[in-house]
Amino acid sequence: MTDDLATLAGRLAAARAGIDAACHATGRDPSGVALLPVSKTFGADVVAEAAGLGLRRFGENKVQEIQAKAAELAPLGLDWVVIGHLQTNKAKAVAALASEVQSLDRLDLAVALDKALQAQGRAIDVLVQLKTSHEDSKTGLPPDQLLSFLGELRAFHSLRVRGLMTIAEHSEDEAVVRANFRHVYQCRNSARDAGFEVERLSMGMSGDYALAIAEGSTEVRIGSAIFGARNYKH
Ligand SMILES: *Cc1c(COP(=O)(O)O)cnc(C)c1O
Repeated sequence: MTDDLATLAGRLAAARAGIDAACHATGRDPSGVALLPVSKTFGADVVAEAAGLGLRRFGENKVQEIQAKAAELAPLGLDWVVIGHLQTNKAKAVAALASEVQSLDRLDLAVALDKALQAQGRAIDVLVQLKTSHEDSKTGLPPDQLLSFLGELRAFHSLRVRGLMTIAEHSEDEAVVRANFRHVYQCRNSARDAGFEVERLSMGMSGDYALAIAEGSTEVRIGSAIFGARNYKH
């Protein structure tokens, strides 16, 4: 049976089948690759429909959007994962709402998040976002600063460091994209050798998740392939 790509359920099934196929193609166990649906720009009604299909965690890149959806969908008890560039002045709102931040990329943000989380008596999982692409538009910590940054993060008890995240270069050249992912995989191994617990690798989006899985991703962040094309005009 082919999936009906006109429905959310059909696109979700197709994305899962694509992840499974990418795993099998590289001899990996599909249970080692999680799917993070990215619901940014889609309304609470769409997220509610996705929740009805069993999805519990949603990636978002704007704090205001999480606030609006979390308020509307509070009874569902969903987990909100921040994947977008975060301004330090948003730390309080993030500490109040997010279950996880994958875009931790600098010390002043860690300081602000930890302080806000301590005030709430909470701790959250975080991933360190590495900048692997040369595009100016992409944010993230320079990979050569990873070990010192991880060392500094040890002081923040409300931030449970679990792994690394990256956004690969937007390129038609698969070798360029794969090299970005491979770089993060290698950084993870170096960090592990240095004694840091950074098992998770959040790498891969709708257009490049098969390459990310081939390079060791443990979590793919998929938006448009599941929810459809985004309309940024609000
Ligand atoms: C929007 C976004 C995604 C999902 O992108 P798609 O190409 O729609 O799958 C993944 N990661 C981050 C950080 C994003 O901002």
